[in-house]
Amino acid sequence: MASKRIKKRKKIFKLKKNRSWLAILLFMLITAVVSAVAFAALTTLAVYTTESKLKDEYEYGRLALDLVDDLDASSESKKYSVLESKLDTFYVVDKNGKIIHQKGENTCAEDSVSYVAIVDTPDEDEDEKKAGNSSELTGLMMYQDTEDSAIGFNDDGTLALSYKKLMPKIKDVLSETGINTDALYSDNVVELPVWIKLDRGDNNGAVFYRAVVSVSISDIIVIMVIVAVIGLMIFIIFIIMLVNAIRNFVNHRRVVKLFFTDLATKGHNWMYFLYKGENLLRKKARFGYAVVDLNFTSYRRFCTCHSLEEGERVVKDIQRLLQKNITRKELCAHVTEGSFALVMLCSDTAAFTDRLKNLMRMASATDGLQGVNFRSGVELVPAVEDAGFFTKRNGIDIEKEFNLASTAEATAEEGTDRCIAFFDEKLVEEQNWIDTVAGMQQLAVRNEEFVVYYQPKYDPRTNELRGAEALIRWNSPTYGLIMPGRFIPLFEKNGFITTIDHYMLTHVARDQRRWLDNGLHCVPVSVNISRAHFIEPDLAEQIRDTVDHEGAPHELIEIELTESAFFDDKQSIVNIIKNLKSYGFTVSMDDFGSGYSSLNSLKDMPLDVLKLDAEFFRGETAGTERGEIVIAEAIRLAKSLDMHTVAEGVEIKEQVDFLAEQGCDMIQGYYFSKPLPRVEYEKRIMPEDSAEQAPAEEQVSFTVDTDSQ
Ligand code: C2E
Ligand code: CA
Ligand code: CA
Repeated sequence: MASKRIKKRKKIFKLKKNRSWLAILLFMLITAVVSAVAFAALTTLAVYTTESKLKDEYEYGRLALDLVDDLDASSESKKYSVLESKLDTFYVVDKNGKIIHQKGENTCAEDSVSYVAIVDTPDEDEDEKKAGNSSELTGLMMYQDTEDSAIGFNDDGTLALSYKKLMPKIKDVLSETGINTDALYSDNVVELPVWIKLDRGDNNGAVFYRAVVSVSISDIIVIMVIVAVIGLMIFIIFIIMLVNAIRNFVNHRRVVKLFFTDLATKGHNWMYFLYKGENLLRKKARFGYAVVDLNFTSYRRFCTCHSLEEGERVVKDIQRLLQKNITRKELCAHVTEGSFALVMLCSDTAAFTDRLKNLMRMASATDGLQGVNFRSGVELVPAVEDAGFFTKRNGIDIEKEFNLASTAEATAEEGTDRCIAFFDEKLVEEQNWIDTVAGMQQLAVRNEEFVVYYQPKYDPRTNELRGAEALIRWNSPTYGLIMPGRFIPLFEKNGFITTIDHYMLTHVARDQRRWLDNGLHCVPVSVNISRAHFIEPDLAEQIRDTVDHEGAPHELIEIELTESAFFDDKQSIVNIIKNLKSYGFTVSMDDFGSGYSSLNSLKDMPLDVLKLDAEFFRGETAGTERGEIVIAEAIRLAKSLDMHTVAEGVEIKEQVDFLAEQGCDMIQGYYFSKPLPRVEYEKRIMPEDSAEQAPAEEQVSFTVDTDSQ
């Protein structure tokens, strides 16, 4: 059971867990990886292309490096011959840009040679080279460099060490020689100047030289197109993935919303209550919570009287009202039919009770619900404190808490001050007892565990036995003798009362028949018939048939109807009473005075006997002048209506005397006798037995012996 619940909860959590963001993140990651791979591929391509383009330039560089090395190593006069041996053509210019040597031709003093510019134009015309203004000339400019600076000359001819400082100078010189230092453009070629550094090794510095990389415009266009296409593809993939992820996210949210939405009220449903409620209750909090089962119990009846649509509309309105009247730290969900589950803040029970009562009052004022009452069961979940700190309520199970609230709800009484019931452990015991009774009832009837006790009714003036009431006892092999108060209300709720009443009627009729046959002095015995029977229009006929089946005369059977039964369908009750009377049964109104509209009922019901409720003799007014006036008037009223009176629960002599004075016909109370087991009662109706006329001493002894019978 528990594992089933855990599984269910896991499923909810799984559904609720939103993985869409994870998907979006994954998509982004994939896009980033794809972009990185594309970028790396393009870079590699670019490096490869550049390197292949620079291959020749590197070769020139190496050549120049050799040259510098050779020039360093050899005497100045040898330098040009080295150059000549290495290069087909070259110029040597001084720092002013003046050509001082060309292919070995020395035009200036040796020591004025400051740096070397080599212009290699293998495929060009000699004049063009000299002029140095051919746009196709490839310039190689080199100078010596130490570890961190270049060697060169400043404007005043002093040695300069800064590469940066040298740059403008180098450029000037080169432009004077006719070599364009900026990128050279032709129709379809872009020439990019690139400075190449070549280490000389052994910390001898490096050689920098200027190279020109030619890239055709068509190549550039192709590269740009490739880059654009790849970029566009990545962008499109990214957009598709993003759209997909967002759509998944939206769909997921929609499914979750649907999963947590109550179809009838469009509010939250039970699943939402389970998921959200548990989170709420588990949180660390300095205040307590109350789990509430708020119930519009007569929902079905309401739907039958009005319509299902009307019922749903009302339930929807109630849900809206509840939702509107709770805070953000609380929650409300529709469970089923008229039942709502709430989690409400509760630090002060009295204040909470007032608030809940007010909610129920507002709910019962919902349009179309006038006069309908609500019931609520509450399970309190207090704040948990550990060493002065509020902690989480980790092990809490919302379903269990709600179940306890529902158990309490079943004991609440709508329309009264007890319309809110709080759960306590006694309720569990009660619930267990309800289940036990329900489990045992059928077998108990089959095993005849239910026994009839007879409580005699005496004439207070003559002390004569005039009648008796049949009262049930359950002689359970497991629980011993059980009093009706412990099971009759349960039978009334679970419907078994009809079986029990039939059982009692059968046994009483059977006893009367046997007693008659045995020559005992039979007096009328009244049998209690619960109000649950009154939905059966042929109740009078059923009673008649049962009594006839046992062969008992009708005048020896009296039917007691409880006062509360008269609030139901009046006309059908009047009909049943009339029929019963026409069959020769006596009909009495039980517990007169315990309800509200007894007098009104009396007006319409053709009853034979009025049984004054024991409350007349026990309440605060018992024995007072006012109390006595009420009793006296009730008896007088009964007489005027041609009814006999029976006073119940009379325990003391003064009451007996008073009732006798007032003309009360019979007394059923401990003063005369407690309910007796059949054999004991039989002694009282035996002709030769003096018990028929109970002596006063014996009556007193009954009064003292008040153990449960
Ligand atoms: P009731 O019909 O009003 O029965 C009278 C109750 O008052 C009986 O309680 C009886 O024992 C008690 N009683 C009578 N005189 C005195 C007295 O002087 N002092 C005190 N303290 N109590 C007195 P009991 O037998 O426990 O029955 C309780 C209720 O259970 C009955 O109230 C009746 O409503 C129900 N009941 C009992 N038997 C049956 C039955 O066979 N069918 C139905 N439907 N209900 C039954
Ligand atoms: Ca009764
Ligand atoms: Ca009664």
